[in-house]
Amino acid sequence: MNTADTPVPRRILVIDDNESIHEDFRKILAPPARSPALSAAKAALFGTAATTPAAEARPEFQLDAALQGQAGVEKARAALEQGEPYQVAFVDMRMPPGWDGLTTIKHLWRADAAVQTVICTAHSDYSLEQITDELGVSDRLLMLKKPFDPVEILQLATALSEKWQAQRAAALKLDELERMVQTRTAEIEHAMLHDRLTGLPNRTLIVTHLETCIQRRKRNPNYKFAVLFLDFDRFKLINDSLGHETGDLLLIEISDRLRNSLRASDRICHQSTPSRLGGDEFVILLDDLREEHDAARVAERLLDVLTEPHEIEGQKLHATASIGIATSDRNYERAGDMLRDADTAMYRAKAGGRNRYVMFDRHMHEQVMARLSLETELRKAVREDGLGLHYQPIVRLGDGSLSGFEALVRWSHPTQGPVPAAELIAVAEDTGLIQPLSISLLRIACRQLRAWHARGGGAEQLLMSVNLSRKQLIDPDLVSKIAQTLRDADLPPGSLILEITESTVIDDKDAALAVFEQLKELGVWLHLDDFGTGYSSLSCLYQLPLSGLKIDRAFIQDICRRGAHTVVLRSIVQIARAFNLQVIAEGVETTEQFALLRELDIDFAQGYLFGKPSAAGDVEHLVAEPKLVVAGH
Ligand code: C2E
Ligand code: MG
Ligand code: MG
Repeated sequence: MNTADTPVPRRILVIDDNESIHEDFRKILAPPARSPALSAAKAALFGTAATTPAAEARPEFQLDAALQGQAGVEKARAALEQGEPYQVAFVDMRMPPGWDGLTTIKHLWRADAAVQTVICTAHSDYSLEQITDELGVSDRLLMLKKPFDPVEILQLATALSEKWQAQRAAALKLDELERMVQTRTAEIEHAMLHDRLTGLPNRTLIVTHLETCIQRRKRNPNYKFAVLFLDFDRFKLINDSLGHETGDLLLIEISDRLRNSLRASDRICHQSTPSRLGGDEFVILLDDLREEHDAARVAERLLDVLTEPHEIEGQKLHATASIGIATSDRNYERAGDMLRDADTAMYRAKAGGRNRYVMFDRHMHEQVMARLSLETELRKAVREDGLGLHYQPIVRLGDGSLSGFEALVRWSHPTQGPVPAAELIAVAEDTGLIQPLSISLLRIACRQLRAWHARGGGAEQLLMSVNLSRKQLIDPDLVSKIAQTLRDADLPPGSLILEITESTVIDDKDAALAVFEQLKELGVWLHLDDFGTGYSSLSCLYQLPLSGLKIDRAFIQDICRRGAHTVVLRSIVQIARAFNLQVIAEGVETTEQFALLRELDIDFAQGYLFGKPSAAGDVEHLVAEPKLVVAGH
């Protein structure tokens, strides 16, 4: 391959019908005769560099000649084809009986667009204007008037071949640059569409392939394909215990194994997803399936292949996976929908015990649609203040008087009917709706309590318990929003109890503690909800600025049946006393439970025995006489 730096001989073509002119050119452009003896003597005397600068500066030419225009053009064409084009052509103006100089040059330029040309004319021939009229303006054409001086020929041949070479060097450089740009562009494109670690196509590329499959299926309903969403079970454990480097090596191993277990036409993609901590997923596109159910067989095979231990840096590692499958029989319109369904099925596989596959089906689709509709309707309801609160009485076990209420969210989906509060809160937490929702509910609860306080007759002592979601802690303005809501409702902070659960503190303990301290400073009470379920770590009790402990209803409901529960409950009460905490029992449904709780010296109780969560209007009679003994006492 020619590069810009490869020297090429200076090839000159003379087209002239006069042979003696050819001879003249030869003499002028021929290399100057050098006596070998003289050169040797010079070299001996002055060294090799001592040749005269003029002799060194003078270039060497390769000369060719033609007697007629056609023959000259043929030579030029052949020379170009052989990769040895002429750099300069001297063309005579008059060459009877054939083409004249202008016609020859026209053809010459068609044969070789780069050749520098000198037209040799007598005074009586065309003027420069006439020539440019005929050939157009070109920087490849110079005019030389006859009779010419040999120096002119030498200078023209030298300068024009120099120019030709410079132009060629520039063109080659440009080519080289273009090639470099192409290579770099291809590299960048590859990097954008492939996973850095495994070299496999990434999600972007697989989505493109998937769109193509979807379009193909539209044209041909017999064409079948499937998407497998594969996620490793507890991969985070490997990363955490053996380090990310080992995790990475394992992923490379796994991707090779998967690739080798698939057909060449199948595609596999991998992308490290930092957003899903510890999760590492592969997407596999099974192309051109005989039957959609064949996807299940492939999934089985992959699970099999993966059960073999992996040998990484001398240690044997086991990594199982969960696979979700979505097949083309659902006639997807968008790649994203198909991936989403495969993802949903994968989560089912995980929930079902891992190391298994699950096919996305109609039932799952209905659940997904119901959830989507729930999200949409909830969003609308939050926007339009369409959610309400029910209030459940909390009574003092000592005298049966009303202490206050717990505010519990209530909402009915327009078609699905009443949605359980825990489910609704989970959806709100997932969608980020929890923050506006919680504050608007807090506002309702505070206003309601303020209205009840205004009745007097003891009602001004009532407290309101409101549940706080862990996701509310993300809001940096949470404390000031709560303070503002209390001010707006003209309610003393000491009338509000916020119920938190241990899970509230799990994400970022220090941040949570800071918020709780500020809330305590504000004058709001904090109760620990659902105690007795989950972790129930004692550390929560002394780390959090709590004033009360709410024992979970699952625990209360069992106390009459299980003696052991009573023993534990007694200990909980003792611990609570040690930390100066009030104890509230929730979910009290029977008089037996009630009696037992009193015996255990528990302070407060809440449950169906005293009243179900009800609309504000339905608890008015309790508010009117809070000192009265509540039902069940
Ligand atoms: P939680 O805070 O522990 O609320 C007590 C739950 O027990 C309520 O369920 C209540 O209706 C129910 N309950 C009360 N007494 C009895 C009883 O005697 N027997 C039985 N079987 N159940 C009883 P609900 O209203 O479905 O709320 C469930 C959970 O949803 C709540 O548990 C709370 O964690 C959450 N939640 C409810 N409303 C809100 C809210 O406005 N904001 C937040 N962040 N969470 C809320
Ligand atoms: Mg609660
Ligand atoms: Mg509770």
